[in-house]
Amino acid sequence: MHTKTAHELHSLLTNKEISSLELIEAVLAQIDKSEGEIQAYVTVTKEKAIKQAKAADERIKAGKSLSLLDGIPIAVKDNMCTKGVLTTCASKILANYIPPYDATVVTKIKESGAVMVGKANMDEFAMGSSTENSGIHLTHNPWDTKRVPGGSSGGSAAAVASNEAILATGSDTGGSIRQPASFCGVVGMKPTYGRISRYGLVAFASSLDQIGPLTKDVTDAAILLNILSGYDAKDSTSVNTPVPDYRKALVDDVAKMKIGYIKELLGKGVDKDVKDSIKQAMKKFEELGAELIEISMPTFEYAVATYYLIAPAEASSNLARYDGVKYGHRSKEAKDLITMYSNTREEGFGDEVKRRIMIGTYALSAGYYDAYYLKALKVRTLIKQDFEKAFAKCDVLISPTCPTPAFKIGEKTADPLSMYLSDIATIPLNLAGLPGISIPCGFSQNLPIGLQITGKAFDEETILRTAFAFEQNTEWHKRRP
Ligand code: GLN
Repeated sequence: MHTKTAHELHSLLTNKEISSLELIEAVLAQIDKSEGEIQAYVTVTKEKAIKQAKAADERIKAGKSLSLLDGIPIAVKDNMCTKGVLTTCASKILANYIPPYDATVVTKIKESGAVMVGKANMDEFAMGSSTENSGIHLTHNPWDTKRVPGGSSGGSAAAVASNEAILATGSDTGGSIRQPASFCGVVGMKPTYGRISRYGLVAFASSLDQIGPLTKDVTDAAILLNILSGYDAKDSTSVNTPVPDYRKALVDDVAKMKIGYIKELLGKGVDKDVKDSIKQAMKKFEELGAELIEISMPTFEYAVATYYLIAPAEASSNLARYDGVKYGHRSKEAKDLITMYSNTREEGFGDEVKRRIMIGTYALSAGYYDAYYLKALKVRTLIKQDFEKAFAKCDVLISPTCPTPAFKIGEKTADPLSMYLSDIATIPLNLAGLPGISIPCGFSQNLPIGLQITGKAFDEETILRTAFAFEQNTEWHKRRP
């Protein structure tokens, strides 16, 4: 039963064909069986989960189900604060951090009755594309355990793909939901910046970070998005607009829809099997009555460079708080305050985090600010304008989520630039604040390929509708590792 989607399980639960306790036991048994190989979790909250499942069963028995996710096992990325439960961000500096409060999304998950299975592994502070930067342990791709699951939400994607959770939350600063979804053959959605509260999400780059769902199909993505979305006074960038019922957008109809395909993301550097799968998807949309339009995004070639100034700049400032004073690791090797600060950070942060802090500090320093940070902000505006021009001509944009399928563990660790470049298709959306989804659209040998669908700000509905129509008319999402 743990192989089913949340919406299928919801019917089984309400029809009393299964109980939430049986379901969580099946998920925990799956964790026992495959976690040795996959290592999707930093923490499994077994006892708490069993207790929550029993409470869900009581509610369901009394006909007082809280939501479509009541009694459904969910994994939470380890950068979302959970009261009383370890929240490490996969960093040694927070290895012992137990938050005194819940992130808003965690509160919402609790209110939905969903059962938290545990905290999912990730790249340290969400910096990375492979989960190899985790300071805790590696996570392996369920389709081929010699390969990475993607990142930074690699634990969340691997947990869903290996049935160690029914669904999961992730966070996406430059692709960290969509890219692991693509590598693990699941659905991952980054909503519009401001759609979901970031309160209690450990900050990486605050102007780019956004939380979203990782699920087995598009329907589950809509259901979890309904639960997570909404204005929150505790996050000043959360936007106060009504949240539609995203399930109503799940209509199998793209007739007359204008779908733009991004020319630059089907060219050089994109794997042949990936290109072929996207072209097949384009054909499928045409068969379904959509009109395909070629779109050029000339500023995309600057997106990765722009991101790697803005994101590290914000990170260098956000991570200043980890100094051994208030929380987290404190070095024992210090004679005075200054060496306590520096030894704490030297011992607590991994190499990639240090690299970003140095890049960011440099980009913000007097004399270089205008040349780097300010310039990057200007290019960010140009990228946004490219999207505005595109959306004057079409309803959604499609492209590969990633130029390649999942790469081998160790393949890119010696060359950070090649790792950074793999985010070419996902980063532009974060810079523009736009929503996007990755859905399975093909395979290269036995490795999944993801199709990215991008929409206008706060138009998650058209994205979901396009994704749903594709899913209804293809079989890719049914393949499991
Ligand atoms: N891979 C990108 C990075 O390393 C994006 C990470 C993310 O979205 N959190 O920064």
